[in-house]
Amino acid sequence: MSVRDLIILGCSSQHPTRLRNHGAYLLRWNHQGFLFDPGEGTQRQFTYAEVSPPCVNHIFISHFHGDHCLGFSSMLMRLNLDRVPHPIHCYYPASGKVYFDRLRYGTIYHDHIEVIEHPIEKEGVVHQDETFTIEAAFLDHGIDNLGYRIQEADTIKFDKKKLEHFRIKGSQVKELEEKKELIIEGKKVHLEEVSYLRKGDVFSIVIDTRPCEKAIKLAKNAKLFLCESTYLHEHQELAISHLHMTAKEAATIAKKAKVKRLILTHFSARYRDLIPFIEEAQSIFDHADIAEDFKRIPFPK
Ligand SMILES: [Zn+2]
Ligand SMILES: [Zn+2]
Repeated sequence: MSVRDLIILGCSSQHPTRLRNHGAYLLRWNHQGFLFDPGEGTQRQFTYAEVSPPCVNHIFISHFHGDHCLGFSSMLMRLNLDRVPHPIHCYYPASGKVYFDRLRYGTIYHDHIEVIEHPIEKEGVVHQDETFTIEAAFLDHGIDNLGYRIQEADTIKFDKKKLEHFRIKGSQVKELEEKKELIIEGKKVHLEEVSYLRKGDVFSIVIDTRPCEKAIKLAKNAKLFLCESTYLHEHQELAISHLHMTAKEAATIAKKAKVKRLILTHFSARYRDLIPFIEEAQSIFDHADIAEDFKRIPFPK
């Protein structure tokens, strides 16, 4: 089985601290490497996390504030250096194209990799294939800023006992999956009689925004929801004026969206101790936890 986890490569907001780097989040899921918002120093954080950068094949930039993209240049440089054979899909708000290009071509390097750009102008489904559906929506941060929702495709699972009961075996199983029905010993068997649908898991990321309906929609029923909480409730005025959220607000979104697990991130450098973030969030939503640099959050099936 492939690795499935979320690795926190950084969880600070604008100012990195001694213990917290600029944000960056690597989600390893069904042989894909989704990298979100590579802030400054992301390349080195991979080394500390003992993960090899070539596992990345999708890079998402929520918006072009420096703490969300300053590490994009060096990540591309590194992937070039490592001569990754696969294309790198890059998602970002289309209005930030000029910043994307500056970051992409900011230094001299030999361009070996294939970068496939997905500038996003319109929210909704921005990519769909047989394995994943990716949705994006604009949040409330004063500039174009995207939240993302990634949904794994549903899969058909066979019930071994039922297969045995109908004496279906070997290549017949695949045939039944393709044709949806099969004649076995003169009797018609429908796919639904021997199988069930496993709903695909959902991961959502909402960073740098005031609370909004779109954040709840992106997070709906997510198994794992990574959400910003730059401030504690005691500094709510700052959250409002800087268009960010408090731990309480993030937890309220998680509760409304009925997510399974909430991970808070993007902490202001003013806080040394993050335990109050857990306490504040858990007063509203039980399954809340905090990001910490190099923490690995399992994301099992
Ligand atoms: Zn930020
Ligand atoms: Zn921002």
